[in-house]
Amino acid sequence: MSALDQIVLSTLPLIPTPIMRRLAGRYIAGERLDEAIARLQGLASEGHAGVIDLLGEDVRDEAQARKVLHSYTAAADAVHAARLDAYVSVKPTHVGLELSEDLAFDIYHQLAGHCAGLGQFLRVEMEDHATTERTLRVFERLRREHHNVGIVLQSRLLRTPVDIEALAPGPLDVRMVKGIYLEPAEIAHTAPGAIRDAYLACTAQLFDRGATVSLATHDEVMAADLIKLVTERGLGTDRYEFQVLLGVREPLWKLWKDDGHRVRVYVPYGPEWRAYSQRRLRKNPQLFRHVVRDTLRFWS
Ligand SMILES: Cc1cc2nc3c(=O)[nH]c(=O)nc-3n(C[C@H](O)[C@H](O)[C@H](O)COP(=O)(O)OP(=O)(O)OC[C@H]3O[C@@H](n4cnc5c(N)ncnc54)[C@H](O)[C@@H]3O)c2cc1C
Repeated sequence: MSALDQIVLSTLPLIPTPIMRRLAGRYIAGERLDEAIARLQGLASEGHAGVIDLLGEDVRDEAQARKVLHSYTAAADAVHAARLDAYVSVKPTHVGLELSEDLAFDIYHQLAGHCAGLGQFLRVEMEDHATTERTLRVFERLRREHHNVGIVLQSRLLRTPVDIEALAPGPLDVRMVKGIYLEPAEIAHTAPGAIRDAYLACTAQLFDRGATVSLATHDEVMAADLIKLVTERGLGTDRYEFQVLLGVREPLWKLWKDDGHRVRVYVPYGPEWRAYSQRRLRKNPQLFRHVVRDTLRFWS
């Protein structure tokens, strides 16, 4: 991290909440579930499907983790009531992975059952490398009991091709990402070109084994190669879609949609938006540069 990054990041807690709120407003739907649903409805009217995420992570209290389950079942119910094409996406440490794998499994298991009853999907997200092994174990257990669950894999991590190989046979649904957590060079690609090459290779590997892949990216150069990949293989929109973050590079979404690709937008919400945004920015200062650059462009 550069000295400038360090100075800027150290001032984050000093930024008044209304200004932070304005900065975050493009990327976060609001504090409440009804605000997230309204945002999803707006996106649906523009032809985009959605993913709904309650902001939060690193819960170390069982009662709190079970409250998160309750919030997510309410989110799934609200998506159903609004007849939206959307599903919930949940971080393992938000449902207690740091307390125990069994607790995280139990909460995912209950939520997957609830979502299945509503005809909805559930995505298990991926956090930093310290959680990868446990998250994959929880996912594999979950997958044995539910057909409506998927995982996230990170191309940044050197282990990912081996993880793909090791996943049990059967239907598989993966959101492929570069990986938001900066990881040490011993276990991860660090150069942008290598992360991109690994993304393409992992995606091809996933298609080879018949997986459905959500291509979560805003990297238009890499997306062009991904489109080439799906076109060459003659894959339909039942095998892939683009996924994007709310507020990030919207002109690209339109371009892809007009070109016949499905685009699903990730909509985060929740009262913990400020603490969550600050933690995220601290973990990945590049993100801070993206946000500032995009915000300046948006306001100019
Ligand atoms: C739907 C979705 C779900 C995700 N889930 C996970 C997950 O579970 N685990 C995980 O580790 N990572 C997750 N990520 C984040 C992902 O790993 C990357 O960090 C992120 O997508 C940026 O990589 P990129 O492929 O867009 O390429 P980049 O090269 O990083 O970005 C391309 C361009 O997009 C813009 N951009 C990208 N991100 C932002 C941003 N946040 N704000 C403003 N501008 C931005 C910038 O202009 C940048 O130049 C998710 C991403 C998406 C889209």
